[in-house]
Amino acid sequence: MPRINNETDQEYKRRVIDIKSESFCGAKWYNATIWLGSGQTTSCHHPLPHAIDVTELAQNPKALHNTQRKKLEREQMQDGERPSGCEYCWKIEDIGRDNISDRVYKSVIYSDEDLELAYRRPSSDDVDLQTLEIAFDRTCQFACSYCNPAFSTTWVKDISKNGPYAKLASDGRNHFTHTHDSSQLYKFGVVNPYVEAFHRWWESDLHRTLKELRITGGEPLMSAETWRLIEWFKTNKGKSTTRLAINSNLGTDVDISRLLDAVDGVEVDLYTSNESMSLQAEYIRDGLVFDDWANNVERLLDSGKFRGMHVMCTINALCLDSLSSLLECIQQWKVEYGKDAINFSLNILRFPSFQSPLVLPDDIRKHYQADLQSWYDANTTSPFLHKFELDQLQRLIDYLDVVKTPHTDAAELAVLQQDFKQFYTQYDQRRDKNFTETFPTLANWYNAI
Ligand code: SF4
Repeated sequence: MPRINNETDQEYKRRVIDIKSESFCGAKWYNATIWLGSGQTTSCHHPLPHAIDVTELAQNPKALHNTQRKKLEREQMQDGERPSGCEYCWKIEDIGRDNISDRVYKSVIYSDEDLELAYRRPSSDDVDLQTLEIAFDRTCQFACSYCNPAFSTTWVKDISKNGPYAKLASDGRNHFTHTHDSSQLYKFGVVNPYVEAFHRWWESDLHRTLKELRITGGEPLMSAETWRLIEWFKTNKGKSTTRLAINSNLGTDVDISRLLDAVDGVEVDLYTSNESMSLQAEYIRDGLVFDDWANNVERLLDSGKFRGMHVMCTINALCLDSLSSLLECIQQWKVEYGKDAINFSLNILRFPSFQSPLVLPDDIRKHYQADLQSWYDANTTSPFLHKFELDQLQRLIDYLDVVKTPHTDAAELAVLQQDFKQFYTQYDQRRDKNFTETFPTLANWYNAI
């Protein structure tokens, strides 16, 4: 195991990472997210994605991950230099000498031997991945408020039909102003060389080296490539030990019967997104029918065919109104199906920043914080909740604390609140929704912005 004798993060870092270099990170060698629709990759979620050279792929499908850019960054890490794309980690480390950044957590999952091999081998070598998140395309029947056209064809339709969202001062990356055509380089029906390269690499090496494969989207279950891969596992039983995980919105259109049939005998973890209840969930995750989603979750739980089910909650300003009710709903599923049958994670949204919980005024933040605190207090000894779930909830409660996480820049807050109002006003018109009716707790504040 990577850690020995219950060593702390600091002890692990000193023993395994610091002796290599001051900037070494195993994710640069063994982890990747690859978007096959746009032909881009990154090492983890922090560095911006960069383009994969399509001309290299015909000869070498491993160039999907082993780009010239990553090879240069590996060399920098071997020499103790800091790749600029990894600024997220450097910022955290520069706050204090002993600060642990993600490069420790993203290295510790690999064996000491593999990390040593990565450090020693020439940076020009091609490396086989151990953990991979892959998106085949951006087809999706939802257009969630915190998503954008790069990840959803329904979002593309909104922008194509209604034009760009206007007057968003904080949307520096222009998420809501164009259709992000570069996210889908090849039309449907046209051979995508990135997808072809992935299947060739999968057949030659990846199915042996990969420990975990997570398919994301768009909505992966609307992509023929996802079904092709699940079918591979079914017809090649025992050939691969890769843990397969699939993200799905489990929306009304998802073919649950086909999924249950396809995963027969295949070990799969199913990840689904939601963070609120009923009409509020349908407002935030446009396209969702809450009852259909809940029924689909129960059908999958009933089947007992999944190794694990996971609800990923993207914590935004709107979901806090009914997050505790959703947690209660998940807890009831645990009571019925078992503590490990389904779990939840709370991931605090950072972008678009005008949808972050920090945009809320102090009194409403305190109100939501108190609501979550009382749910936490009532369930802290629940035999159905995992420690990691309670820890994440405690972190969110701390995050909502106006003293612990103050908004120091009043001017910036005013800009974000203006964007909040601008965005949801246009969202209501385009999606035939009504903010103040759906979120009465926020109505007075919203109307006054
Ligand atoms: S150094 Fe940090 S940002 Fe860079 S790949 Fe590792 S974890 Fe990600």
